[in-house]
Amino acid sequence: MNKQLRKAVIAGNWKMNKTPSQTTALVEEMKPLVKDAGCDVVICVPYVDLQAALAATKGSNIKVGAENCHWEKSGAYTGEISTEMLTELGVEYVVIGHSERRTYFGETDVTVQKRVRAALDAGLTVILCVGETLEQREQGITFEVVGLQTKVALGGVSKEELSRVIIAYEPVWAIGTGRTATAEQANEVNHYIRTVIAGLYDSAAADAFVVQYGGSMNAKNAAELLAQPDVDGGLIGGASLKAADFAEIVKAASK
Ligand code: PEP
Repeated sequence: MNKQLRKAVIAGNWKMNKTPSQTTALVEEMKPLVKDAGCDVVICVPYVDLQAALAATKGSNIKVGAENCHWEKSGAYTGEISTEMLTELGVEYVVIGHSERRTYFGETDVTVQKRVRAALDAGLTVILCVGETLEQREQGITFEVVGLQTKVALGGVSKEELSRVIIAYEPVWAIGTGRTATAEQANEVNHYIRTVIAGLYDSAAADAFVVQYGGSMNAKNAAELLAQPDVDGGLIGGASLKAADFAEIVKAASK
């Protein structure tokens, strides 16, 4: 399967870390460092930071994403945000199914699927997170878990819509822990996800499909991970909050 067919995507997941003014400052610091990127560059930020991020990134090569969205168009869902609220602002990407949402906020494969559907209907590009826990890896069921998460989330997604879906393979045990999957472990699961895509759609769709790795990717380990044949970029938490580190990862993905 041909990596050349795919443009790498490096996406920052800022989580609950920056205020709007801090967002402006961090984007201003990042812009000159990533302006010559040979990959797509995205920052996914808290809802209240979206406007600041969109204003600061205007005219640059940095795209903006949200960290979640609701599946209903509107209604009595206190505290939730609809896809239309995001697209009206100019948001282009949305992270769905992050393990922190699954672990702390009751997200299930079924609610992930509903959010994916709503996001695609609204014209957003989805960064869909899948990944096994340490217990599941030790039980030897990583492929089963990741395969099921992928299949349920993509239920009802057409081949045409697939060009607006990216999967981020994020082993839960590697997120925010400093414990990165080895390049071989990352590539093995990313490759498996591609075979699942080939099974659901066809091999051309699988060849064109972007599968990122996420989980303690940083300026030091990015090059090795990104050199793997099935690793087409990264979803970056901690290291995306430091402009220089994020830029190093972007540089590694641009080779
Ligand atoms: C993430 O939140 O998606 C993530 C990969 O975090 P970190 O890079 O901090 O492990």
